[in-house]
Amino acid sequence: MTLLDTLGRALGTLRISVTDRCNLRCHYCMPEDEYLWLPREDLLTFEEIVTLADLTGEMGATRVRITGGEPLLRRDLPALLHLLAGRPWLQDLALTTNGVLLADAAADLKAAGLRRVTVSLDTLHADRFQRLTRLDALPRVLAGIDAVRRVGFTDLKLDAVITRGENDDELVALLEFARAHAAEIRFIEYMDVGGATAWRPDAVVSRIEMLARLTEHYGPIASIDEPGSAAPATRYRLADGLTFGIIASTTAPFCRTCDRARLTADGVLLLCLYAQHGTDLRRPLRAGASRDTLQRLIEAVWKGRADRGAEERATLRERAAYIPISVLKKDAHLEMHTRGG
Ligand code: SAM
Repeated sequence: MTLLDTLGRALGTLRISVTDRCNLRCHYCMPEDEYLWLPREDLLTFEEIVTLADLTGEMGATRVRITGGEPLLRRDLPALLHLLAGRPWLQDLALTTNGVLLADAAADLKAAGLRRVTVSLDTLHADRFQRLTRLDALPRVLAGIDAVRRVGFTDLKLDAVITRGENDDELVALLEFARAHAAEIRFIEYMDVGGATAWRPDAVVSRIEMLARLTEHYGPIASIDEPGSAAPATRYRLADGLTFGIIASTTAPFCRTCDRARLTADGVLLLCLYAQHGTDLRRPLRAGASRDTLQRLIEAVWKGRADRGAEERATLRERAAYIPISVLKKDAHLEMHTRGG
């Protein structure tokens, strides 16, 4: 069944956050010293997650991405992956991780039916990694990337959020690292999402600037035409054939093709990274609502979806951090690490 929102967009991808906890404190996502965490008893069980995922599958979702927080902190994650991998409606099952715990987990993730892995990797310098994430863990992340290959994943992506003065001198090095590991890298513009409390406009390195710098090094870069793609990245090809992507949510938002819904670890359905409110599915689920009732609720929410948060942010003349710390401290659902990025 294809159900369209108010802008004619179909639901295609469900991003499931399995925990709001993270073992890193990336400067663009969790720069504060203290956070308000979701109550543990509110976390959905795997069965509850699958029930809700199935309902989105009935509405047309075909892709699931597991995220967090750091999803590998969720105990027994492979058991959830195994349950999801067997859903008949599911065509793609991916995971986004910071890679710190990946080396030990990779084989179990593969055996559970995970198809694709994306590892966040913002720098190749160990000291810089520690400064930007507050954990000295680059060697563990690199071991995780090696393990992904070793256990037989064929589709590996690397995500790098590029911020001025922090890692914008590593565009070429990161691209060459991706080449050496047969991975596709995606450079992500720094977004002013909830939680990015240190965001400022001049720290954003735009897609145009990234392309200019890469062109300076590699020569002409061709953009790859992918009509109808709902993927967030625009892809490019170097003259030697190497491909990469840029996710330009800040300077060139792609809300018109956004097919994503997000489920937080405690069962709140969000329709946009910038949404101020979501729909709590946990309460009706735990109160015994029938599948039909839940289905109608989710359908009504998607049909009413008008969100185009990144486009609206891009029209602002004065832009600063989206949500003040005082507000974030009262509502964990506004945080990027709760929404899953
Ligand atoms: N812990 C996992 C990881 O590190 O990939 C998954 C969760 S993390 C919130 C998901 C994605 O959000 C990461 O790829 C990260 O790059 C992105 N992200 C977080 N804050 C961001 C920001 N301010 N701007 C752009 N991307 C951001």
